[in-house]
Amino acid sequence: MIRAFTVSLAAALLAGCATLPANAPAAPIAPPAGFAGTVTAADPRAEEAGMAMLRAGGNATDAAVATMLALTVVEPQSSGIGGGGFLVRGTAAGTAESFDGREKAPAAAGPEWFSGPDGKLPAYRESVRSGLSVGVPGNVAMAARAHAKNGRLPWAKLFEPAIALARDGFRINPRLHDYLVRMPEHAGGSPVAKALFYDAAGAAHPVGHVVTNSALARTFTDIAARGPQAFYTGALAEEIATTTAAATPHDKAMTPADLADYEAQERAPVCGNYRAYRICAMGPPTSGGVAVLQILGMLERFDLSALGAENPVTWHLFLEAQRLAYADRELYLADSDFVSVPVAGLVDPSYLAQRSALIDPATTLAFAAPGKPAGAPIALADGDEPEERGTSHLAAVDAAGTMVSYTSTIEGPFGSGLMASGFYLNNELTDFSRSPEVEGRMVANRVESGKRPRSSMSPAVVWDPQGRPFLAVGAAGGSTIPVQTARSIIAAIDFGASAGEAVGMPFIMAFGDAILVEQGTWLETAIPAFEALGHSQITARAAPVKGGAILRSASGWQGARDPRIESDLILP
Ligand code: GLU
Repeated sequence: MIRAFTVSLAAALLAGCATLPANAPAAPIAPPAGFAGTVTAADPRAEEAGMAMLRAGGNATDAAVATMLALTVVEPQSSGIGGGGFLVRGTAAGTAESFDGREKAPAAAGPEWFSGPDGKLPAYRESVRSGLSVGVPGNVAMAARAHAKNGRLPWAKLFEPAIALARDGFRINPRLHDYLVRMPEHAGGSPVAKALFYDAAGAAHPVGHVVTNSALARTFTDIAARGPQAFYTGALAEEIATTTAAATPHDKAMTPADLADYEAQERAPVCGNYRAYRICAMGPPTSGGVAVLQILGMLERFDLSALGAENPVTWHLFLEAQRLAYADRELYLADSDFVSVPVAGLVDPSYLAQRSALIDPATTLAFAAPGKPAGAPIALADGDEPEERGTSHLAAVDAAGTMVSYTSTIEGPFGSGLMASGFYLNNELTDFSRSPEVEGRMVANRVESGKRPRSSMSPAVVWDPQGRPFLAVGAAGGSTIPVQTARSIIAAIDFGASAGEAVGMPFIMAFGDAILVEQGTWLETAIPAFEALGHSQITARAAPVKGGAILRSASGWQGARDPRIESDLILP
């Protein structure tokens, strides 16, 4: 029945949707009177930190940096100054820029970094819980670079809310409590972390308990006063290097010079059109922007709006586009400072049209192989990629309509479990392929000295067909991030969703040939329809997702965090 429906539908689909006019040149728009801006983040206290900057006359960059700093305090399991991130900024005049604060492997690292003395890889968790997983943190350097270029308030001002939260204390919310209970050995792995979050008997402090993190307050005060050099040189750099190196079997696994040498980069954003909307996102070393633009580009020939948001065919097409995009991602995406990544070829409309032609609305592709975009290197193999959750997406829009989309991470929950001066150190280096080669071919995302591990983070900004700022969007959730981001963009553009509806829309993703549909949503009841379209290995389970968006609707800008985490944030 369903198959008959989809086959007959195919002709209609392939007739294509009306071609919309090309994106008009952007013209500045007047901000609505009295609008100071808005912020979204995974914790309302971090949002308030950003809002305080906007009220003080700051802009979206100021607000985003203050929000990232506050998240270090109140959501220590997910992100912070011990990790890295990516920031994409889009203006009302239609310009875009992007900043790369991705962690770097220390100079001593190389392809066999994670292998034991026997040449074998230890269990994944063992790699995470060691200094081997810690990359040189990039968030402070990137925040400073983005602020120096685009900020309006004094640098020290951005630290005020975070300092107050750390110094005066913040209450443990149900979400943090749950992580502390589930991961005591990891979260409380160091004596300082244990003293912050657990009682003398080793039990996690209860929901509502006030944590005072004076070490972190001092760290912030120092960076506020002296700038990023207070992080990358001197006593703090020494502490980060020593803490990390002591937890590895290698000599000089991280040195103060690794910190002193770190530089955040400004990179060209990856931009493309979806229908008549323009999207700019982050390029390598994240796979996120390319994957989002590929998924959208392959879907453009289908009239998703006519198909509808609760039609299995819509999401079947989405799954097929994901499978093709992720096949390319696995093969080609890594740090473009080290390997040649054919970014332009991968998002080229004619290449995406070829890839899209592989999608059959009536059935699933037997095998989604990577394509050959212009500029593709040869002799690369895809690699392993472990998945974890420990990231936060935030966004800010200011009175001038400037959109900032920022994803900040320490990789897995509580990062490596190591702590320096009140913040967790990331485990970002496990985002590398721990195996340098697969079937005799070098993996693009292998560990190399000074290289940035491939990410999935996908902060993005979108302009509407008139060139007006429309959406700042992104997500946390490892390899699900580009899929969440593409889903939210589709929800907003094709289905006219609000910010909350877009990030809350039921989640569906192809992990290779296996399909995850979000438990308790209509997708679960549609499993037979997906099976009739040729999908197998479909599992309904809670989706490991956490999106965030700020969207401009007829009633103005509205921010929303993922409704799935709302109840975890309520304090007594
Ligand atoms: N470290 C991951 C990345 O950069 C994100 C991890 C997560 O969201 O849980 O892609």
